[in-house]
This record gives sequence, C-alpha cells and structure tokens, in this order.
Amino acid sequence: MPNPLTMKAALLKEYGKLLEIAEVPRPVPNADEVLVKIEASGVCFTDVHIMKGEHASPNPLPLIMGHEGVGRVVELGSDGGRLKVGDRVGIGYVFGACGHCRECLTGGENYCPDFDATGFSVSGCFAEYVVMRQEWANRIPEGISPIEAAPLMCAGAAAYASHKKTGVQAGDTLAIFGLGGLGQYAIQIAKLCGVRVIAVDISEEKLATAKALGADEIVVADENAGAAIQALGGAHGCVNFAPVGATWPLMLAACAPRATIVLTAVPADQLAFYTYEVVERGIKVIGSSASNRQEMNELLALAAKGNVKGVINTMPFEQINEALSSLIEGRTDGRTVLDFQ
Ligand SMILES: [Zn+2]
Ligand SMILES: [Zn+2]
Repeated sequence: MPNPLTMKAALLKEYGKLLEIAEVPRPVPNADEVLVKIEASGVCFTDVHIMKGEHASPNPLPLIMGHEGVGRVVELGSDGGRLKVGDRVGIGYVFGACGHCRECLTGGENYCPDFDATGFSVSGCFAEYVVMRQEWANRIPEGISPIEAAPLMCAGAAAYASHKKTGVQAGDTLAIFGLGGLGQYAIQIAKLCGVRVIAVDISEEKLATAKALGADEIVVADENAGAAIQALGGAHGCVNFAPVGATWPLMLAACAPRATIVLTAVPADQLAFYTYEVVERGIKVIGSSASNRQEMNELLALAAKGNVKGVINTMPFEQINEALSSLIEGRTDGRTVLDFQ
C-alpha cells in the first residue's frame, strides 16, 4: 500500500503556546534519506526549552519538534544504502553532521559546528512520519520495544556518553547528581561497568527509585552532601543531570583527588570555583552533549540484553500537550513516550 500523502503532526506555531495537531504534507525522503513511520516518540526537556522560545529554532515556525523517534523504514531514498524497508530505526538529537570537519573525523560528530538537530533545525518526530539520513538512523536491535527504545535516543545516549567521559572504571565511585530520566539510566550503566554508585537528589522519592535501580548509596542533595560523599570515600567521578547550579559546589566538595566532573544538564548559571580547590587536587571538568553514533550503538547493545530499563510513562500521541505541561510542572518521574500505535 502506498504511503499516504499527508500525516498528522504536532505543530509549534508560536513560542510559548501549546502545540496544534494538524494534517500536513508527509515528508518525501531525499536520496540519502529514508522515510520512517513513527511508532514511539519520547518527550524531552529540550522540547520545553524550544517550545518556550528559550532555545528558538533557526528557522521560521511552524516547527515539528521531537528528537527521540523510533519507527519502521517504509520508503528508501534513491541512494538505497544499508537500510531496507521494514527495519526498525531511531533518531536522536543529531540528525546529521558535515562528516568532514575535525570533530566529525575524530568521534566528536555531536560537536560538529555544522550539525542539524532533529526537531529543531529540521523537522522532528512529533508526527506520524519523519525522514532520517540513512547514515544517522540507528538500527534498533530486536529485544527492545519502540517505547523502551525512544528515550534511549536522547536521554539514554546522553547518560551513556556522560558516563564514559567521567573515565570511571570498575571499582571506582561515581556520584550521580539529579535522578530524573538521565540519572536513572546512568545508575544502570555505571552498575553494568562495575562502578560503585552514589545517587544524589533532593527528592526522597527519586532516591528510593535510584536505590531500586541499583544505586549502592543514596545521599540527599543538601549542603552536607559533599561531606557525606567524602565520608563514603569520595567520588572519582561526578556527573550532573540536575538543571540547577546548586549542585556545583556539592560536586566540588564530593570529589576525590584527580576526579572528573561531567556537566550535562544546562542550568542558566555561571559556575564559580576557588582555583586552589581545582588545581591542587587535579580536578577535571568536562561538558557533555548528546552522543556520537558509536556511543549510541554501545548503549543499544547493552539495552538489547534487557539491562538498561527506563522509568517510562506512556501517553497517546494526541495527548502531547498534556505530556509537555506535565514536564513543565515537574509532575513527570522518568521519561514520557508518545505511543503512535
Ligand atoms: Zn533530548
Ligand atoms: Zn563536522
């Protein structure tokens, strides 16, 4: 059966306003692209930033947001390529990059100055169909459902890439600050790597979930958190998934000598430090954004074994505005996935 010429999509027509579900022309894949019929699409806090205009698209509205899309290939572009109709694929925030700059050639494609962002600079996955570039569509292994796979495309991949940047190894201790979706994935990833995990959050409920997901220790994120982590032996790595600047002094205080702090969440804050504290202890601070395709593949391989499970709320696509409102109001625990079935 030929693919329909129109599709339902959630349109951002004006910043600061809710989305409008409308019937729009279905995209047609370019030579190097595939057309994907979306089965599940995750909702991310970045969508909220875009929707509010805090992270405005470089293109005029309307915009179809969404960068955690999973579905089946239903049509190939004229280049053919490595995918075939029926393959299950997913796409994250990086829609594609230039492929020839220094970053692209050295595993830093997610830092390419010229990359396209799904659901931001190109149409995203809050729609029945989306196009993906062949080379950037991640194959979803059997054993992961579309609902479980969707949040891996952004939240899971970002957590995995952040974990790797901490450089922690089996036997080391990692303190994870902020136990929303990314923190929950990071706990499981660290445990699979033989790392001791200290989970840190202000919410008792999130700390309890962290314990259930395998955290070895839990620490309340109050002003004593750094001392509490030192009493547990100190952290060889800290990773911040909490979108607040308040975790920064706690992380500095929690670090063992030569620890690495990875910053993933983006609070709109300046972070200050006393030079001596960083220099004399040999502390490293690294930023981490999204992931490259190799990191995504490694994560998907781990998840295919059933070892990385998200805490997921599922909603029908039609309730996308409720999903976004619930995120804005902080009523969401874990990740929300829109079901298109
Ligand atoms: Zn995201
Ligand atoms: Zn590049």
